[in-house]
Formats: sequence, structure tokens, C-alpha cells
Amino acid sequence: MDEQTTILQPDDRYLRTARRRAQERPESGQPLWLERAQVKEIMDTETGRHLAAASVMGSAYERLMQLRMEVRTRMLKSDPLYRCSICGVPVYICRAQEEFKFFFRHQEEDGSCPAQTRGGLSQDEIDARKYNGAKESKLHRRMKDWVCQCLALDGKFESIEQEPTWKGKLTGDRRRPDVRAVVDGLPIAFEIQLSTTHLNVIAARRDFYQREGGLLVWLFAEFDTDHRRMTDDDVFYNNNLNAFVVNQKTVEASLQAGEFLLDCAWVLPIKGGGHSGLHKRIVPFRELSLNPATQSAYYFDYAGAKRQFEDEINAEKGQLRSDFEAWMGATGYHGANSASQWDEFRIRLRRFGVELPKYNNHIDRELLTDLYSAKNNRPWGQRQKHLVEVAHRVANSEKEHLTWFMHAARHYGRADSMSEEGTPGLWLRRLKELRIEYRQTPERFEPDRRAQALVELLFPELRPLP
Ligand SMILES: [Zn+2]
Repeated sequence: MDEQTTILQPDDRYLRTARRRAQERPESGQPLWLERAQVKEIMDTETGRHLAAASVMGSAYERLMQLRMEVRTRMLKSDPLYRCSICGVPVYICRAQEEFKFFFRHQEEDGSCPAQTRGGLSQDEIDARKYNGAKESKLHRRMKDWVCQCLALDGKFESIEQEPTWKGKLTGDRRRPDVRAVVDGLPIAFEIQLSTTHLNVIAARRDFYQREGGLLVWLFAEFDTDHRRMTDDDVFYNNNLNAFVVNQKTVEASLQAGEFLLDCAWVLPIKGGGHSGLHKRIVPFRELSLNPATQSAYYFDYAGAKRQFEDEINAEKGQLRSDFEAWMGATGYHGANSASQWDEFRIRLRRFGVELPKYNNHIDRELLTDLYSAKNNRPWGQRQKHLVEVAHRVANSEKEHLTWFMHAARHYGRADSMSEEGTPGLWLRRLKELRIEYRQTPERFEPDRRAQALVELLFPELRPLP
């Protein structure tokens, strides 16, 4: 038996002992904010705006995992993204104990802020303490040997070293990656993710290798849907949703193939939002895309596929907008095929989450015509000549549309030209009257919001609607 085969004795008991309890990921659309959290509001340092913690956390898990990394990275660089609205201390995103909710924690706390965020451990910290075991470090050593062995048999890697000192040329900082190798001139730091590496350690390493022009590649002993830890997600969601596993199977396959193979796990984006379950395949390292700028190594380009879906969706929305506009402007609405055309629009709009009434005479047609008129600078789908005629009609008999109509008129730059139309000075006088009327009975001018979702989809440029 030679050296290579002895290293491959079946030995997965370390893995078994390290196996973790299954943790459900939050379903898409579920709020991710921990409601009882102390910090309710934070300040965005880029804009100076105060934001509700609930809306920053949002309900998109993928986005939050990326934001968590960014917040940590910026805090490490002493350029925090968010500060506590009350005391101004930088805050970062933690996962709550035992439930999949997130909260903001002060970077440090001296008791001067009424929000107390540092009592007790976050789930991240519990994980970090729980999984630091001697058994894992045995597996750790084994995995480092495996990686070196696979790199050595693959002819493309140079300067393969285990735990070398990597001294930053630019920063002067030092790191000691598990394994270092150079491929096509790109220095790669392989780190084995067994015991939970805390998010701020991950963020600091990413930042170091990014600045030094190297690439950090995380390797897992296992990666599956049910037993992923928070920090596994921190790596996965910040690596273009790809993860790599090195285990006995991949080492055997590498030996057979004569090159470094990894078990890759990835997901596919779903058009319209979310992603698939894990896909897996054993792939050669040479087939991976390596991107030091984003510190990602991936087999499947999730971000690229997602962008393509988004482009397609935007094109479909654009087509739908112009078709609907043309239909409202021409004879479509009153035409012979009005009902079947309406059904088609209903189906197309439903795909974007907008539900139209069953019959077309149940929509707020006046509101849409008013807005299309402002957009096109002439009455849309009507016989009148000037936009100001629409304005007078809205002012006289559709007060519940006036706020949005004027918002649109300002947005499309019609406010001045409209007052020049018709009887000189008439519209300006009418506006003065309307202002007085508004002060007396503002409720009559409250926009009718039943068609808001439709208006927002058809007129994205008018968002946010007053
Ligand atoms: Zn505070």
C-alpha cells in the first residue's frame, strides 16, 4: 500500500460526530427582523437617513446574507455602514438565539444607549463555541493533507504549501491559510470551514485577500440543505451561491482523474425571485471561474443567470407597459375584442403580482387616462385637445385623482406648459382655489389607492407615489 492509499482509509466518524441538527431556513417573504430587538432604527451612513431595522432586514434571506457580510467588512475598515440611531455607535447584524430572526447589535456598549444589545450570546457566538472540538481538528488536518495531495497531482498548481505565512505586500498584515497554491499566476488561499469561523473572521480574510490580489476559497467537509450553519451560509451566499466540498470521495476521484476535483453545490435562480434547492456535481477545479475582485470561485454563475432573468422580466414589463398604454390610447378599450384583450392583460399583469378586476369597466379608467395624458402631454384616448382640459376635469370631478395627476404633471415637466394652454391665467386661478379647498377639506383630495399597485407597475417613474 503506498502513501496515497493509506490516507484514504474510510474514516468519516469525525464527520458523524460533527453532524449538526437540521435548521430550517426562513421561507421567502417572511420578515427576517427579530421583533423584540432593542435597536428599532439605524442610520444609513451613506445617506444620513434613519431607517427602520425591520425594513433593512427585509424578507429576502439571500440579500440579507450579503448585507451581513458588507456590514461586517465596513465595520472592520472603521467605515461602518450603519449606526445606532440613538447613540451613533456602529451596529452589525446578528442572528437571534434559536430562531431564524436577525437583530442589530452595538459594536461596543457602555450602557449609555437605552438599547441594550449585548446581553447573552447570539446564535453565531453559540455556534462558534459549540463546534470547536478536538475531533474536528483531526478532520481539519486530514483535509489539509487531502487538499495538498490533490493539488500536487494536478499539474496546474505551483508553490503548494500547508499553513504558510502569507505576508501582505500592501497591508503588511499576515495570514496563515490552511493551504496556499498558485494557479495561472493567481495566489489562492484554501481555508477549510469545519469549526465555525465567525463572520467577522470570514469578512477580515476576504478583505485581506481581496486587497492583496489573492483569492480565498473555502472548502467544506460537507454541505447540504439540512445541516448548514449560519456561517456556512455566510460563505455560500457571498460566493455566488456555490460551495465546495472535499471528502474521501472527491480525493479518490481526483486520484483517478489525475487532477483536483471538488464536489460543488450550487443553486439556480428562479425567475421572479428565490432559488432552487441544492444541485451537486463533482467538477474539476480548472472549470471554476475565479474572480479575485468579488472573492468568488464558482462553477455555476448564479449572479449572471439571475441578471439574465431580471433583464428578461424588465423587457416583458416594458412590453406590457407600452401595449397597455397603446390600448388605452386607441380604440382598444371600446373595441370589439375588448373583453378578450382585457383577459390577456389580466394574465400578463398577474405574473407581476397585479390583479386586475374581471371586467374592464371596473378599473379606474379615468385615473389611468389622466396619468397617460400627463405623460404624453395631451388627452389620452379622448377627443379633447389640450392637457389643461384634462386638468380641469380632474379638478372639478375627480378630486381623488388630483394629487397623483399633479405629481405626474410635475414629473413629466407639464406644470408650466399646461398653465399656458386654454384661457390665459385660468388654470393658475383654479389652482389657487384648489389650494384653499384642500386646506378646508383635505380628505376630498386623498388619492384613491385601489389602483396603486397597477399604477406603480405601469408608471415606475412615478414611484414613490404621494
Ligand atoms: Zn445605541
